[in-house]
Amino acid sequence: MTPSGSAPVIEFRSVGLTYPGPPPVPALLPCDLTVRRGEYVTVVGPSGSGKSTFLNVAGLLDVPTHGTYVLDGLDTTGMRERDRTALRGSRIGFVFQAFHLLAHRSAAENVELAMVYQRVPRARRRTRARDALVRVGLGHRLEALPTRLSGGERQRVAIARALVTEPSLLLCDEPTGNLDTATAESVLALLDQLHADGATIVAITHDPQVAARGERTVSIRDGRLAAAGAGAGAGAGAGAIRAGV
Ligand code: ADP
Repeated sequence: MTPSGSAPVIEFRSVGLTYPGPPPVPALLPCDLTVRRGEYVTVVGPSGSGKSTFLNVAGLLDVPTHGTYVLDGLDTTGMRERDRTALRGSRIGFVFQAFHLLAHRSAAENVELAMVYQRVPRARRRTRARDALVRVGLGHRLEALPTRLSGGERQRVAIARALVTEPSLLLCDEPTGNLDTATAESVLALLDQLHADGATIVAITHDPQVAARGERTVSIRDGRLAAAGAGAGAGAGAGAIRAGV
């Protein structure tokens, strides 16, 4: 459970994004969203509904055309690209459907690379990479190349890489999209465990079963974000949403 008084990690204030076109595409309509430290929020919607746009904005990969995005208490409005990149690198860990591991680097090296830009000394990178891989249950596969790992193990490496920088937010894009049902379940169980240990997780998915793993689900349809399952504890409080301002 997340204390409703814990600090916001994501604060969207009328945040929206319209692709310029022509014709302009209002892919994310202005919305308010608060995700607090320690929450596990899923964002569900069909293909073309605006999930990637939401993820790109939340992940500082795209600049919203409307509103104010405050990440970890820092207003990102008008921030220089260099500062956005630095903020993204230090505060957000990404987990993608396709893993995005370097094929010719070991599991440990893949995880270590996440720390290179943060100027973590080499010996410390090693230790932290090992600790992160132990945390995701891969302490026995440190030197394995991704090609020697199963899909589930690859996703665990990717999760270790996302965690190793100790981000404020774990942002997952269809984290089980490339996995069979049993393997997907083990990855979802890992996310549950990380959440229980205090991680703040936002996962986007088209799969209602994956969405159901979140403590709270937000739905997106035609660019409009709305609380899903309002009867199931969504509502105001820990994470109020006021969509379509
Ligand atoms: P999802 O991830 O749910 O499939 P997207 O966020 O990718 O949805 O897309 C939402 C809408 O924005 C769609 O109508 C899509 O065609 C449109 N869109 C996505 N990217 C661009 C872009 N770069 N330029 C114009 N329209 C885009």
